[in-house]
Amino acid sequence: MSKESALRAMREARYERQAARPATTPRLRPPVAPTTPPSPPAEAAAPTVDEGLCGHRSMNGRTCTREHGHAAKSHRYG
Ligand SMILES: [Zn+2]
Repeated sequence: MSKESALRAMREARYERQAARPATTPRLRPPVAPTTPPSPPAEAAAPTVDEGLCGHRSMNGRTCTREHGHAAKSHRYG
C-alpha cells in the first residue's frame, strides 16, 4: 500500500465516522412554549356605566340615574 493510498484510506475512514454521526445533536429539552397568557378582555364583560352616574343596579336590573356619589340615600331608577 503506497503512502498516498494509505492517506486516502485514512481520510475515507474519518469521513465515514463523521457521516455516521447524526447531523443534528439531539435536543436536551423540548422547545418551551411562551408562558405569557393571552391578555384578558379589557372589561368587555363589565356593564358599561355612564361616567358621572351612580350606576347602582336595582334588583330588577335597572340602573340608578342619579349622579355618582349622590347624597340621596335612595337610588333613582328609570
Ligand atoms: Zn344611586
